[in-house]
Amino acid sequence: MIIDREVPGSLQFQPTKVELDEEVAAAKATLLHDIKRSVYLYRCDLGGCNGCEIEIFSTITSVFDAERFGIKNTASPRHADIMIYTGAVTRSTRLPGLRAYAGAPDPKLVVAYGACGCSGGIFHDNYCVWGGADKIIPVDVYIPGCPPSPAQTIYGLAMALGLLEQKLHAETTVEADDERAPLRFETIPYKVRVEIEREARRLAGYRYGCDLANEFLTTLMLADVDVHGTMTQFIASQDDPRRVEIYRRLYDVLMSHARSDG
Ligand code: SF4
Repeated sequence: MIIDREVPGSLQFQPTKVELDEEVAAAKATLLHDIKRSVYLYRCDLGGCNGCEIEIFSTITSVFDAERFGIKNTASPRHADIMIYTGAVTRSTRLPGLRAYAGAPDPKLVVAYGACGCSGGIFHDNYCVWGGADKIIPVDVYIPGCPPSPAQTIYGLAMALGLLEQKLHAETTVEADDERAPLRFETIPYKVRVEIEREARRLAGYRYGCDLANEFLTTLMLADVDVHGTMTQFIASQDDPRRVEIYRRLYDVLMSHARSDG
């Protein structure tokens, strides 16, 4: 406080707000409004009293449980979608703060958290304090408070993600009483479908096996009269010998059913 009065303004550091270039701003706008998956947040403390951290942790742990909105904590900025900056920017934490920002992939959202993160808070006139997070990086959402409560935190994060807007425009679908989900490969007998899928999953693993079985069954559905010719051509068109091997095995399963059904 004393130094502020004694040092002339021209000699004091005058940071300017950082602006985003157009491309990153557009990508960020998409992330803001269209994100429909879990998001990872990384917390970066630049020089607070730890009060904000306590509130953030109570937001993401079981009582307030921000995970129910798909908001998860991550230990590395490399995986972060949201960077939360708490505490005032100080001389010694400015560079780590910038490094964390640079380490997070674009487009990322930046939240200035707490009075310190927004403006420097009670430390704003300290000799080593540069101010809020927006003095070194572009900030998207400010969550004020000293510290902000978990409810405020969840509200701020929801704002950041456009979750509120998504909720307002959400569509609810209610099934009619006799409505059935459409069956895939309805014309192929149930037993054949199940056995082909099981065999594909046994050979190629649960996820990939399902994809291979779907491809095989889709081709089978399209085969009109000449099943043998269509499937042989399909297998021959594969350029991966592992796929050829699996499809051959699936074709054997199909043929064994055809023989046993007469
Ligand atoms: S905003 Fe308040 S609680 Fe948060 S770091 Fe600053 S002084 Fe501590």
